[in-house]
Amino acid sequence: MSQTVYDVLIIGGGPAGLTAGLYTSRAKLKTLLVERMILGGQVMTTTKVENYPGFPGGIDGPELMERFQEHCQEFGLEVTTGEVQGLVDRGETKAVTVDGEEVLARSVIITTGAEPAKLGVPGEQQFVGRGVSYCATCDGAFFRNATIAIVGGGDTAAEEALFLTRFASKVYLIHRRDQLRATKILQDRVFASDKIEPLWNSQVEQVEGDNTGLKSIVLKDRVTGATRSLELEGLFVAIGVIPKAHFLAEVLDLDADGHILTDAECRTSIPGVFAAGDVRKKMLKQIATAVGDGAVAAIMAEKYLMDHE
Ligand code: NAP
Repeated sequence: MSQTVYDVLIIGGGPAGLTAGLYTSRAKLKTLLVERMILGGQVMTTTKVENYPGFPGGIDGPELMERFQEHCQEFGLEVTTGEVQGLVDRGETKAVTVDGEEVLARSVIITTGAEPAKLGVPGEQQFVGRGVSYCATCDGAFFRNATIAIVGGGDTAAEEALFLTRFASKVYLIHRRDQLRATKILQDRVFASDKIEPLWNSQVEQVEGDNTGLKSIVLKDRVTGATRSLELEGLFVAIGVIPKAHFLAEVLDLDADGHILTDAECRTSIPGVFAAGDVRKKMLKQIATAVGDGAVAAIMAEKYLMDHE
């Protein structure tokens, strides 16, 4: 029996992957979407999405992603769970290894997204799940009436600091510089909160605790060089994300940070292989831009398949 050759294989089921899947399955291309864990990507850990058009008043991240999935189902997108380990370019077909099995496709769209960056300081790893977290939406409720801190100065840190005020009695916002990178509207909300205290020019040097969990952190003042201990029950880390493309480093051109390099039409260095969303190098990482990328990659894959019939 001959092996199925998909027209399009999509790796990753966040907003970019689901949008690409919507477009290609609607275009009647035989498409398989492979997702490692659960569909929805990073949006699944977002409480309220306020800047995705069409939802005045905002929408919960998981609910938005459920709608994306339902929409894909309308067009019969085939979805499977599995981890992609590698990709081999055989010209007209691409061989993708999924959980050790080879899956063939005439074109591939990579939408593997990104994962939270780690501080890389002593004690951080040791207290993950026992005080250290990378997801306020997932773990915030464990810190009722607690004193906690969040590290970072971007949109994620600002949004998560605000979310954490629902539970914690005090939220330190630890940032390595003296101004936030987050958008003005989020900054205004952070500064208006009487529960959030920014700690400027501060860097976490160490995470400390005992067998019951995290107890304190060592903070360094980057201006004076002085260090001090800060007692905490929880430490949230929101210092950006790392693209999930390491498994493709041998076959595709990546930038120094590990993003897949593409042109404006989402084409990678291999003809017939496209990248969309946070995994590719681009200026703005938003749900709206991931959706835009997914649509572009899908249309470009369709065009590629027509040109190579
Ligand atoms: P980000 O914008 O890259 O911000 C990362 C923050 O962490 C920066 O403030 C950075 O400091 C700090 N940082 C980086 N490495 C650090 C380290 N080793 N130690 C201490 N601090 C460190 O990341 P993000 O906030 O996760 O956002 C990622 C993307 O998603 C952005 O494009 C953002 O706009 C988007 N996003 C949008 C929304 C929204 O629109 N509602 C929500 C969440 C995320 P410096 O400022 O000094 O570089």
